[in-house]
Amino acid sequence: MKKQDYIKWDEYFMGIALLSTERSKDPSTSVGACIVSEDNKILSVGYNGMPIGCSDDDYPWDREGNGLDTKYFYVCHAELNAILNYTGTHMKGAKIYTTLFPCNECTKAIIQKGITEIIYMCDKYADTESVIAAKRMLDSSGVKYRQYHPIGKDIVISL
Ligand SMILES: [Zn+2]
Repeated sequence: MKKQDYIKWDEYFMGIALLSTERSKDPSTSVGACIVSEDNKILSVGYNGMPIGCSDDDYPWDREGNGLDTKYFYVCHAELNAILNYTGTHMKGAKIYTTLFPCNECTKAIIQKGITEIIYMCDKYADTESVIAAKRMLDSSGVKYRQYHPIGKDIVISL
C-alpha cells in the first residue's frame, strides 16, 4: 500500500516558494515564488533580492527614509526574479506560486509571459493601490488567482 501522508501539488510547490524565502536578505518581507508548467513541472524559482552585482551589503534594505535610501528602487521581486531566472522559452499556461500577492509591476510581467494562474499565500497588501491595480489587470486579462489554504502540516528540514 502506498504512503498516505504525501503532500499534494499545491503543498509541494508552495513549499518550494516558502523554502525560497529563506534565501532572501530582506529583513521585513521575504518572498518566494515558484513557476510551474501546466503539467506540474517546475520551470523556475525566485526570491526578492538585489540585482546581480548590487551587493546586499551596499544597498539599503530600509522601508522608510529618503527615497534613494530605501529598498524600493532596487529590490527585484520574487515573482519577477522567477520569470527572469527561467532559461526556457515556453511559459504559456503556467502557474505561479507566490508567498505574497504580486505587486502591479510583477503582475504585468506575469500577464505578458502567458502565466494563467496565481496561487498566493498572503494578501496583506490587498488594500494598497499596487495590489488593487494588479487585480484589475488580472481580471481584464483573464488570469485566475486563488489563495492557498495551509493544511497545517509542519515539515522540518535539517540542514
Ligand atoms: Zn512585485
